[in-house]
Amino acid sequence: MGAAALDAEARAVAVDDAAFLGGVEYLSGERGARGHRLDPVYGLRKRQLLVFEVCEKLHAEFDRLRARRRLGHSRHHVIDPLNFHTVGPGRRDEGRAVGREAHRPHGQSVEARKTVIEWDAGVRMDVLDVAARAADTGPVCDACLGRLVAERSFGLSNAERGSALRTALALRDDEDYEPVETADCWVCEGRCGEFDAWAERATDAVGDAEFETYNVGTRTPPLIEENEALLREEAGVDADAGEPFKSEYNREVGKRVGRLTDTEVSFDRPDVQFTIDLAEDAVDAKVNSAFVYGRYRKLERDIPQTEWPCRECNGSGRQGADPCDHCGGSGYLYDDSVEEYTAPVVEDVMDGTDATFHGAGREDVDALMLGTGRPFVIEVAEPRRRRVETDRLQSDINAFADGAVEVEGLMLATYDMVERVKEHDASKRYRAEVAFDADVDGDALADAVDRLEGTTVEQYTPNRVDHRRAGLTRERDVYGASAEPDDARHATVEIHGAGGLYIKELISGDEGRTEPSLAGILGVGAEVTALDVVAVEGETEPFEDEAFFRE
Ligand SMILES: [Zn+2]
Ligand SMILES: [Zn+2]
Repeated sequence: MGAAALDAEARAVAVDDAAFLGGVEYLSGERGARGHRLDPVYGLRKRQLLVFEVCEKLHAEFDRLRARRRLGHSRHHVIDPLNFHTVGPGRRDEGRAVGREAHRPHGQSVEARKTVIEWDAGVRMDVLDVAARAADTGPVCDACLGRLVAERSFGLSNAERGSALRTALALRDDEDYEPVETADCWVCEGRCGEFDAWAERATDAVGDAEFETYNVGTRTPPLIEENEALLREEAGVDADAGEPFKSEYNREVGKRVGRLTDTEVSFDRPDVQFTIDLAEDAVDAKVNSAFVYGRYRKLERDIPQTEWPCRECNGSGRQGADPCDHCGGSGYLYDDSVEEYTAPVVEDVMDGTDATFHGAGREDVDALMLGTGRPFVIEVAEPRRRRVETDRLQSDINAFADGAVEVEGLMLATYDMVERVKEHDASKRYRAEVAFDADVDGDALADAVDRLEGTTVEQYTPNRVDHRRAGLTRERDVYGASAEPDDARHATVEIHGAGGLYIKELISGDEGRTEPSLAGILGVGAEVTALDVVAVEGETEPFEDEAFFRE
């Protein structure tokens, strides 16, 4: 590239900058010392500083050239950013309207102009200049200094970056090395020296609760956030340059917690979430829930899946001053539930404060749950034990439930298993005891269930279902159907159907609301006298997916 072309390029860059800066106003007296505050109206300090950098670089270059070639002009020549000519002799504040008088410094090398172009090709602020400006603001600790350029040199802590910058700066400027005590730092007010102390307080706060994963969050005091912004402004870098105080705090305290407790950081539902509140001088350890997956069988009728509060007394067990006569004062319609037979045992073994039962749907209160059972998750709040032996837990529950309920396949599960169990599409297999109101021929029965198999059933919201629920007709598939006559008026019918298929109505027809139905096809009244669920299976894949289990 020839000298003329370089010169043109330098001009283009410079004109661009000058235009950006507000041109004439910039030239008319705002070129103070490096870092000089400019009228915020222009809001362009960053670009201005960039041009100052260019000028500084040129001064340095000219000094070098002068030394080498004995150029006759002063160190204090002003660089006119519009023309990139030096103007002078004079002081920098004499830059007003100099463009027309400017003259090209004799002997300005191509090299010097090239430097300008390279320097301006992007934001090339030297880290040492940033550090120098930052250090000029007052005592800034190594971590706060290093955090300004945290994106540089992976593998260093910010304190190491800051310490290195301070050392390099002292060497560059040949000045005495003066370390800053973290306690004296005006930016973090000494907080960057408290990582160890906070880590210890955090592990104290969690007490003896067992955990494998954790995360640390920090609430930054507003004053420190202001200091951070001020430091960046003074250092002439972007407001979001480097790393925020908060994330350094989270990481540095986090690393130490991990070392102290031999646990791992996790950003996705950690076992323990620590929150450090610097302004309040407090640390909170929130112990997240633990989850146990399994499948239950309900071997006795009239047990609801979960506690069923009495509607008459809203679960209080009282009506005025008297015990509620609807529930006998217990507050519940049923003495037991699958939840009551299982959740307290898990809560006890995990030493939690509460336990919640989540089922993959529910059977009717009077239906048994047999066969392979129904998937469920028990969520234990604030457990102090997580690594429980599931085999042992299983026998503890089965002993406690004493034959009314049985569980199997217990596994420690993730938080996501709750949604999996509640939302995963499942088909159901049922066994229904059916009574007919007239004699039914065995062949006719076999023919009727053949016609049900593979059909799509339309069901209007059944009579027995909550009347407040909006009535609608829905379609559900019958995957399989079979029947075994017990006598002329009774049969055992097995149905495999899509989730949501109402079985009692599929048998009875629900006064025409379900079509087709066994009663409709036979032309004989039919009613379910006992209904059991024998399997609850994922439609597309099993509930048990290892992604939802721990260990
Ligand atoms: Zn600091
Ligand atoms: Zn009651």
